[in-house]
Amino acid sequence: MNRTLPAQSGASVFDRLELLLPLVSKPIQYVGGELNATLKEWESTVVRWAIMYPDAYEVGAPNQGVQILYEVLNERDDVLAERTYAVWPDLEALMREHSVPQFTVDGHRAVGDFDVFGLSFSTELGYTNMLTAIDLAGLPLLAVDRDETHPIIVAGGHAAFNPEPIADIIDAAVLGDGEEAVLLITDIVRTWKQGGRPGGREGLLLELARTGVIYVPQFYDVTYLEDGRIQRVAPNRPDVPWRVRKHTLMDLDAWPYPKAPLVPLAETVHERMSVEIFRGCTRGCRFCQAGMITRPVRERSITGIAAMVEAGLQKTGYEEVGLLSLSSADHSEIADIARNLADRYEDTQTSLSLPSTRVDAFNVDLANELSRNGRRSGLTFAPEGGSERMRRVINKMVNEEDLIRTVTTAYAAGWRSVKLYFMCGLPTETDDDILQIATLAREVIKAGRSATGRNDIRCTVSIGGFVPKPHTPFQWAAQLDHESTDARLFKLRDAIRADRQYGKAIGLRYHDGKPGIVEGLLSRGDRRVGKVIVQAWRDGARFDGWSEHFSYERWMLAASKAFAEESVDVDWFTIRERERAEVLPWDHLDSGLDAEWLWEDWQASLDEVAVEDCRWTPCFDCGVCDQMETEIQVGPTGVTNLPMPAMPARPPVLA
Ligand code: SF4
Repeated sequence: MNRTLPAQSGASVFDRLELLLPLVSKPIQYVGGELNATLKEWESTVVRWAIMYPDAYEVGAPNQGVQILYEVLNERDDVLAERTYAVWPDLEALMREHSVPQFTVDGHRAVGDFDVFGLSFSTELGYTNMLTAIDLAGLPLLAVDRDETHPIIVAGGHAAFNPEPIADIIDAAVLGDGEEAVLLITDIVRTWKQGGRPGGREGLLLELARTGVIYVPQFYDVTYLEDGRIQRVAPNRPDVPWRVRKHTLMDLDAWPYPKAPLVPLAETVHERMSVEIFRGCTRGCRFCQAGMITRPVRERSITGIAAMVEAGLQKTGYEEVGLLSLSSADHSEIADIARNLADRYEDTQTSLSLPSTRVDAFNVDLANELSRNGRRSGLTFAPEGGSERMRRVINKMVNEEDLIRTVTTAYAAGWRSVKLYFMCGLPTETDDDILQIATLAREVIKAGRSATGRNDIRCTVSIGGFVPKPHTPFQWAAQLDHESTDARLFKLRDAIRADRQYGKAIGLRYHDGKPGIVEGLLSRGDRRVGKVIVQAWRDGARFDGWSEHFSYERWMLAASKAFAEESVDVDWFTIRERERAEVLPWDHLDSGLDAEWLWEDWQASLDEVAVEDCRWTPCFDCGVCDQMETEIQVGPTGVTNLPMPAMPARPPVLA
């Protein structure tokens, strides 16, 4: 697409887009106009951000990260931030045909007109949607081909902790919390623009890289050993740091965002308001990248949470509030939070939910409290490992007795359906570990029937394939190949089907192992994987997180083309175990975790030794607090009763 074709700087392209909307599915997702959206005048601002969640609007619009950054940026008078999402292939084809560029849903402006194009990646499977957006925006796909008339492309989110596979595409990556980082980037871009763009695009990128907290891949050279492993990653400019640090936001109470959550007109995956009650997790589950990279735990106070719930409900009119975090029942004041909120909204339309998956009776008590108003349909628990041995390996210490007791308590309290989450393909796992899931589910139904005297209770077993992630103790582990994953899952399916007495009460949900291999390639890949991504995209890869769009064969074909001249292949990146001495592609990116601690934890895993949570035991020196100059921030604050009067009861409906 020719960059001179799109509308002039900051002008709306809606008149051209509008003509295409009657021809595509769900056109409402492209029109914006959400309650609490912000639309600023282009000319009155200096630094302009287009922020993308690289998935369809229905998934991207509720995303908390994007909503927070959108508001944080727009609060600044001279900054403008607008949102853009992945367009479905039907609209993509029409946009190409009619030269309509990738647009924002707020002002329907061309993404190529902005100063910064920021993308938030929750998963690596969004990489091909990024390429579609870059291409539709009329921007060169590779960073080296872009100049100062193009926006700088900045990646964030969990996948940014190893952005090497997209290192040739993006200009920069931000590790960790984005609130302060986007303001830092904004300040640097403003100074550069107002100073007459000294040094051109490279001058700006150098300024960003010199901060030590923004990673600019083009200023690092990677060399390889003959066997394909990395020899060294080294800066190629004198004042660019060897390692880039993550951002950690301290004092969540000072950042109560989003203050005015967006209320989409179109249908989305979450039709509720979310309040993040804490960030970070130190439970130490060894498979969990989110828990490892977001340390330490930082709680929002009970008063801060109540104020956000109250203000958010008033601004949105939502009737459901989700209290979010990685393990919500672990907030030090959660019992008081639940009681206060349940009292406050009793007899109103407002329902509260706590998407916690902790396996204990306390979690059931909380769910009971929060569902005072509503139905008790389903509760979810996540033992993750099928056998007790497996749960020691992954450091998820739940014994079978506790699990059955917890689930029985839930059935007895009126919950009719329980969902249990597991993973398949964990390090050291055998068929027997997975087959124990069938035994466990059987015991759950048996105990539930005897506790309630009812036969209509159900248990759904949901299993995902395990993908080893960077910055976790399993970063060195071999991933299980997809054939073995499938074979193991089929054995489990057959075992449940063969159970004539309880099998019908047990549901089984699983996906085949192929998407996990592509995710594994993208998660632990290095710069050589970039060619695979571009090739797969050229061959038609889009929306890889959606099973109806994903094609394993397309990815494997792309990999065979891209790796034709290399000594590595997909198996090398996925099912190969790494040794301690190997330089990992993300070693120069500092999550705060000490590599020696991670390795010791990996060895402890193989020895089936568990580690406690440092919230209630002494610090075990994972490295984060020292490295990042942070500390655990947990309550209790001493506040137990909030000055929150109960809402007036709903007036009776008159006939
Ligand atoms: S450094 Fe210590 S206190 Fe901080 S997160 Fe790690 S183990 Fe916990």
